Amino acid sequence: MQTAKCNLDNANYHSHQFSALPQDEITRKRYNLECSVCGNHAFFRWQTSNGREACFGAYHSDGCPMAAIQTATDTNSQYQDRNASSNHEQHIVVDFSYGSAQSEGHAGRPEIQNQLEDSGHSGGRVVRQNIVSHRRLSSLLRELITSPQFSSSNQIIHVAGCGETSVSKFFVRFDQVTNAHANRFMGYWGMLTCAKEGYPPALWLNTGMPGDLSILVPCHLANTLRSRFGIEDRGDLTAAGMFVLVFGILHVSMLGKPYIEIADLCSITMCNS
Ligand SMILES: [Zn+2]
Repeated sequence: MQTAKCNLDNANYHSHQFSALPQDEITRKRYNLECSVCGNHAFFRWQTSNGREACFGAYHSDGCPMAAIQTATDTNSQYQDRNASSNHEQHIVVDFSYGSAQSEGHAGRPEIQNQLEDSGHSGGRVVRQNIVSHRRLSSLLRELITSPQFSSSNQIIHVAGCGETSVSKFFVRFDQVTNAHANRFMGYWGMLTCAKEGYPPALWLNTGMPGDLSILVPCHLANTLRSRFGIEDRGDLTAAGMFVLVFGILHVSMLGKPYIEIADLCSITMCNS
């Protein structure tokens, strides 16, 4: 969306106007933006190198007309996911092998698994066919962003080492994280407000105010992550408006700040909006 309201000065800003403000003013005001219609927290998204102009994003309330405008922007051709599943009966197996030859070979290609099940009748057994779709994190993130039906579906998802659950139970949007998620391994996703070096030393991917959820990328992984996902260095506006999906355990610090520390880059993906 192209406009948002700053609750510091109660002014409505067009994204072009906002991006022309002095850097320190942007830094101050970007934490205090809201949707001008529903009032939910909004984010500033900087212009990207692939041609997207500066704009705002927000998690809108149900029925907010600005949501449709934002979705129309987000579903431009760059978000059309050819691998996305249109068959929500498929079982998803998460493919963590980013960039490997093996991954390229079967990503998005459905397989058929025959499973023997007890029919419950006369001791006989029947064969049930499940379509198994291997999906990379990037494919899952795009579908989470573009398809509310997917994120709320009961489609089964298998995560190696963690068993299986439904899509609606496994993926948690950043603004819906609660204390109940502490110490739980989930697929956390949503929009970033900035990425910057912080303390303890790491690249901090922040999702809102300073006390909100952050993702810690250890220093030895930070440069690879920056180059892999095209994170430009724009001071503390780096990565503003990018979407991220991370598989990990949510921890809560002594000060009550939720964070997820990644151990390797297989468990995270990012994309521009
Ligand atoms: Zn709204």
